Amino acid sequence: MKCDILVRGGEVIDPSQGLRGVRDITVSNGVIQRVGENLADVDAGHTLDARGLLVTPGLIDIHVHAYPYSPFGLDPDPLCPAGGVTTMLDAGTCGSNNFGYFRREIIDRAATQVLGLVNLSCMGLQCGNVGELCDRRFADPEGVVRVIAEHPGVAVGVKIRAGAHLIGEGEQAWANLRDAIRAARESDTWLMVHIGECPMPVPAICNELAPADCITHCFKGGSTRIIDDGNRVFDDIRSAADRGVIFDVGHGFGSFQWEVVDAALEQGFEPTSISTDLHTKNLNGPVYDMPTTMSKFLMLGLSLERVIEMSTSVPAGILHLEDQIGTLREGTVADIAVLERRTGKFRFTDSYRQHRTGTELLTAAATIRRGELVPGGGGLRMRHLAE
Ligand SMILES: [Zn+2]
Repeated sequence: MKCDILVRGGEVIDPSQGLRGVRDITVSNGVIQRVGENLADVDAGHTLDARGLLVTPGLIDIHVHAYPYSPFGLDPDPLCPAGGVTTMLDAGTCGSNNFGYFRREIIDRAATQVLGLVNLSCMGLQCGNVGELCDRRFADPEGVVRVIAEHPGVAVGVKIRAGAHLIGEGEQAWANLRDAIRAARESDTWLMVHIGECPMPVPAICNELAPADCITHCFKGGSTRIIDDGNRVFDDIRSAADRGVIFDVGHGFGSFQWEVVDAALEQGFEPTSISTDLHTKNLNGPVYDMPTTMSKFLMLGLSLERVIEMSTSVPAGILHLEDQIGTLREGTVADIAVLERRTGKFRFTDSYRQHRTGTELLTAAATIRRGELVPGGGGLRMRHLAE
């Protein structure tokens, strides 16, 4: 059998198929050709020796900022091999005014698959120090609907950052939130709500959301959280999750607190999806990359399969792309992450500068993106090493 790439002897974990075991994988013409044990008579253009490594579907990060012409934005392509991330969702860095430019200059030119949410604010996050919806005139639900119609399969949903310093308070805040919800319904897509120091309680926001809408930064600390003052997950949060509202990690530099995630997990409330909220201000800590964020959940007691599921097949489903990505099924897009599972003492930091020491760290060893081996990897960085 001829193939472009043979990934030999790795421990394959593919939650989309309930698969875990040592397998060989062949890749040809950008798709996964065969997955099997000890494949014989393979004539490969390139062989990747994955013995001792984990092989998973390419990771999917549904909260990044990949529009470099904004104060937050990163260039998407270097993030791919650094984190084993083959698909990323830009979480509303652009609005109706600049999404077309984002598409032409970044999305269409990037080798990595980038999709985008359209910010309710027409300017998106173009001015980091100005609340994008403090002035109601920036809210452009009609523009959001139009942009989504103009960029099918690329602009896949709506974003609002529901912090009081961003959307205002009282009736103005509710008007902004309702505009965002209306834009999602009229575009037949979904809404991601960033929770910050919200002008309304998080349960009240959740009560307005439909199945497949999403709360990101779900484990943030501060005054508006998914848990009450007694650290109990609000009933309205649980019922929202039960009816299909997505609770996404969106770690970020201000949105992940050990005490909140501890309380939630103790009460059996797990996130739906793991994501980073990578942007210029957290790339060099405390977030770093997707595998570091996943490693934090290993330390918190989630199983390796579960953590990989929350980073592959689940986000693929959120994007309605489960037939193509987030899986190693034969015939699907050849997006593959080869991860190293290191043991030792590793320092993990939340968004409130609190450190914990874990014993396992995932790093990206190699990445195959749409059938091509991408050079570089995450490697072990000194900042991860505990004393
Ligand atoms: Zn963000």
